Amino acid sequence: MKTISIKNSNQQYTVGKIACVGRNYAEHVKELGNEIPDKPVIFLKPTSALIHSGGKIIHPAFSKDMHHEVELVLLIGKTIKNVTRTEAEDAIIGYGVGLDMTLRDIQNDLKKKGHPWTIAKCFDTSAVVSEFVLKSDYKLTLDEEISLSVNGQIRQKEKLNIMLFLPTEIVEYISSLMTLEEGDLVFTGTPAGVGKVEVGDKLVGEIQNLGKLEALVA
Ligand code: MG
Repeated sequence: MKTISIKNSNQQYTVGKIACVGRNYAEHVKELGNEIPDKPVIFLKPTSALIHSGGKIIHPAFSKDMHHEVELVLLIGKTIKNVTRTEAEDAIIGYGVGLDMTLRDIQNDLKKKGHPWTIAKCFDTSAVVSEFVLKSDYKLTLDEEISLSVNGQIRQKEKLNIMLFLPTEIVEYISSLMTLEEGDLVFTGTPAGVGKVEVGDKLVGEIQNLGKLEALVA
């Protein structure tokens, strides 16, 4: 059982599923040679993949090309199914910073074969999250910058508002496919600048005014 913590609160949420969006920033879609999707690309990560800021990302031996992907993460606060955009907004109760660590060599191979991305996305420690901030404590405008640095050097930096699909659209869409429940997390996709990390690298992900996470690759 994995939990996430809430800033300025003793409250904890047990994480249900981790739903993720791929290809949600145009420049990132291009850098990987993919096409702009007409609907959000959705995949899942298991909760066994989840670690918190301050933890270690363990580089799997079966990959030679692990990439960082910094993302805005949504915390779902109630059970929803087939909701409207307004109801979707209401179901998002908080936000955090996340890393969707990805084995790019494995993923490219799976894509070529038309196979699911599971092996590239679901390994232990592949989902890193910060503390979460409740909407009641901070109102996200999407004007905030999201960034990721490796050993102090900025690799990814972009405004959240250039996402192709906004948080409420994503939650509305996922709720048309599967029930979302309290404690579910939604990773909303990464901006351009993804790249390889090596053992010993220190990653710092940040969303302006919202929060920060750090993790060491081991
Ligand atoms: Mg991602």
